[in-house]
Parts: sequence; structure tokens; C-alpha cells
Amino acid sequence: MYFNDQSIVFYNGKFIKAKDATANVYSQSLHYGNGVFEGIRAYNTENGAKIFKSFEHYKRLKHGAEVMNIQFNYTEDELTEITYELLKRNELKDAYIRPLITTGANMSLLTSTETNLMIQCWEWGKYMGDKLLRVKTSKFQRPNPNSCFVETKVTGHYVNSILSTNEAKAAGYDEALLLDMNGNVAECSGANVFMEKDGKLYTPPRGHIMAGITRATVLELCKEEGISVEEKHFTLEELKQADSCFFTGTAAEVVGLQSLDEYHFPLEWENSQGYKLMKLYKDEVLDVRKKAKAV
Ligand code: PMP
Repeated sequence: MYFNDQSIVFYNGKFIKAKDATANVYSQSLHYGNGVFEGIRAYNTENGAKIFKSFEHYKRLKHGAEVMNIQFNYTEDELTEITYELLKRNELKDAYIRPLITTGANMSLLTSTETNLMIQCWEWGKYMGDKLLRVKTSKFQRPNPNSCFVETKVTGHYVNSILSTNEAKAAGYDEALLLDMNGNVAECSGANVFMEKDGKLYTPPRGHIMAGITRATVLELCKEEGISVEEKHFTLEELKQADSCFFTGTAAEVVGLQSLDEYHFPLEWENSQGYKLMKLYKDEVLDVRKKAKAV
């Protein structure tokens, strides 16, 4: 699904066949989860392949490496250029892009001085599908922000996301919703959350969540379109009185919820602010809005 005999990856300065890429089995990333990754999308726009918010994604990747003390010297612009070249070599315009920084062999708990960079890409539809989601509140909480850097995509952090997703799927649900250590609603295992009440949107503030690039885009779209939105903590009980709810993320894009545990969101998705934002987001990533705004 992710690669075939022809697929090319960027690996430590070279474009090589994915099937020829090998990794060190003594890598600290494999043993202890000390690696950093990104999830980016490219869209086939009228002007060809366009990587959405490449600078912002690579800035977050670099920040992750920095806080983990991983030596990493590429600039955001260099990484963007490499990624466009990678898309071209794979003949992909609509693609999911996965940069991954791994560390070398080191069984001590000090960051290895060896760094590897790989960038992979593949064709990927909507990660959470097109249907409204049935979501389960997880028994797992988002990590305490004093225990790690919650705003970075460090590979090891994703064990928390895997635990909650496994739990939700095993119980017959589509996705998991996680609370923070204080009992407030935090986010989905791989996406941010917004709720709508009386026409106004609410989303948890930064602190216990991933500062999603899609979340920031949706906040910008709300501002531009005059949609009322507030960054504010809310509880599960409040969310279960909301009219509507949606998740945002690079892989998920903007996707509505049908239900949370036993609670069904009463507002028709097509009449919600989330639905409007789903359409606006699609136009934004396809560069259609900029053109419309310029006219
Ligand atoms: N929360 C978590 C835990 C994530 O892994 C992601 C995906 N990076 C998001 C939210 C959404 O972030 P973004 O919009 O930048 O993809």
C-alpha cells in the first residue's frame, strides 16, 4: 500500500528505491522512540502539485529535533525543495508525505549523535474516510505536558495514540477522543477537536494538545469568514451537550462526528459550521480561495 517496486524515497541525501532502503536495527528510534516525524499533504491544484503549509510542517519537524537534542541542519526551504523533487520522481501530485528523522545506534539514554533523514510519500485518501465518525472517549489521557513536548511529533509519543485507537476500534468505534490530565477534552488520537454550540465554535487551547496546522488554518478561515470561534477548555459533559463536533488534521482534513459514546450530535452535519469549514478548507488547500479572494 505504501510503496511498490518503483517507489522512490529520499534517504540521507540520496533518492533511492524504497525497496532498497534499510534501517539500523540498533537505532535508538526503534528501541526507545527517539525520532521525529511529520505528516504533510500535497494537493493537485490547477497549478500542479502544491505542498500545503510545507514551511510550517518542516518548522515543527525542526523544532522536534531541537528539543530532543537531535542534530539536524536542513532548512525548511531545503526540505521543501527536496519534497517537491521527491513528488516529481514518484509522479505524484495528490500525496501524503512522511518525513522521518531517526537516530543512530545508541543503547544509552543520551541522544545519539547520528541522525538519519528519510522522506516517503504515497497516495492516500481521506484518513478517516468520508462518513461521519462514531467516536469513543478513551480511558487513556493525553500525556502530561511536563513529561514530554506534547506539541512535537516525537515517534515515541504515538504509543498513546495507538493505545487509544486500538481501544476505540476494539469496542466497534471509528476513533478515540482523549481528555487531558485535568479531565478537559483534549483531542483525537491524531487530530484536533472543535465543537459547535448555538452557532459558535470552541476548541481547546494549546497546552495539552498538538498545535495542529489544520487547526490553525481552520481558526484563520473562521476569522476570514466571520465564524465565531473561541479557544477555551471544555469538559466531556459540555461536549455532550454540543450541537455538532468535528476533527481537524492533515490526514483527516475536516471530518464531522456522528456521535460520541452514547451521545448523538443533533445538528445535521450539512447545516453545521464544520461542514462549511470542510468546504472552505478544501478550497484553501486546492488554492481556489486565494484566486477567488484576488478577483
Ligand atoms: N493531534 C495529534 C495528536 C496529531 O498527531 C495530529 C497530526 N499531526 C494533529 C492533532 C493534527 O495536526 P495537523 O493539523 O498539524 O496535522
